[in-house]
Amino acid sequence: MTAPLVSIARLDGYEPTEVRRAMQAVLEPLGDMAAFAKPGCRALLKPNFLWPSAIEKAVCTHPEIARTAARLLREAGASEVTLTDSPGVGSATRCARKLGMGEGEPFRVVDVDDGDEAAGAGAAYRKLRVSRLMRGADLVVNLPKAKTHGQMVLTGAVKNCFGAVVGMDKAQWHFRAGRDHLAFARLLVHVHGLVAPALSILDGVTGMEGNGPGSGDPRPLGVLLASTNAHALDAILARILGVDAAAVPTLAAAREAGLLPERIEVAGPEPESLRPKPVWRLARPAIVRTFGGPGFLSPILDRLIGMRPAIDLRKCSSCGRCVEICAARAIAMEPGKGKDGRIPVIDRKACISCFCCQEVCPEGAIRVRSGPGARLLRIGAR
Ligand code: SF4
Ligand code: SF4
Repeated sequence: MTAPLVSIARLDGYEPTEVRRAMQAVLEPLGDMAAFAKPGCRALLKPNFLWPSAIEKAVCTHPEIARTAARLLREAGASEVTLTDSPGVGSATRCARKLGMGEGEPFRVVDVDDGDEAAGAGAAYRKLRVSRLMRGADLVVNLPKAKTHGQMVLTGAVKNCFGAVVGMDKAQWHFRAGRDHLAFARLLVHVHGLVAPALSILDGVTGMEGNGPGSGDPRPLGVLLASTNAHALDAILARILGVDAAAVPTLAAAREAGLLPERIEVAGPEPESLRPKPVWRLARPAIVRTFGGPGFLSPILDRLIGMRPAIDLRKCSSCGRCVEICAARAIAMEPGKGKDGRIPVIDRKACISCFCCQEVCPEGAIRVRSGPGARLLRIGAR
């Protein structure tokens, strides 16, 4: 496997002229947008739309990144550019409206379809329904956002493609993977392969640190990254953020599948020279894993140092979103001092630590917490 190329440009804000300059600069080493958009092609943009959220929260890919990509696609000859996603909450059109996308955009926003079972998915992934729109496009351009993630440590280019799995199916697939985060990462790598974006352009201008991917803190990172290889792009993002690649399950799964070579070419500044100071805060300690494999020690270690969701009832609005998303049925609203006299309560035994609840909590009331043993030993605290 030849070394994949990841192109990096500095970009400090979302002023349209500057975004265009940086995107052209980052695409130039890859052959410009013309290398991807053939005349007459139907291009599809896949942003990170987690839920309808204001731009400044940095939950979603910034609209100017999507606009600039769409304009460059059209200038290269694309006959149509469509933008879609299957958010955890809400719809693509509602997310777009909240982000201020409206009339006159260089793309059409559509809600995702109900998907088809992906043929040739293999026995492990039978009944995996993937968006027809995303799989049927002539060209998919992946537009992830640089954010932390409770379960996957980072959400970048590969994780972003999970939006091709429609609606609540996503939570069901979390449930199927259970506590085994590497098994879930293998699924993410598989779905990325089905979507097969020809190009990924990562919005790292303002990223998210802390309790990501939905309730963390926006923080300037000042970069735009592009690559034809989403795994390599994520590996470079990890280097920029100072995160050990071995702690990122999607990178471990890609390496295991032979999709991520040791050597990655970089065009632009050295990743380490872009490392933010102080350190980028993660949603969970980077070296604490959840133990999912066989072995008599796994449940004990899991109880002691595995990660689990913790609810801060002072922030909770008793909306019930966490209950709806939990495929393991590990959360229930019970009588308590919350709104309507109800509070969410987690059944620790039933919880598989998938962190879907943390991802969709609109109040940032759910955090990722390591087990008592890890806290005592201060393992991985950062
Ligand atoms: S999603 Fe968040 S705010 Fe809503 S009930 Fe659950 S913990 Fe509370
Ligand atoms: S309680 Fe949260 S982390 Fe636990 S299984 Fe349910 S959604 Fe996943």
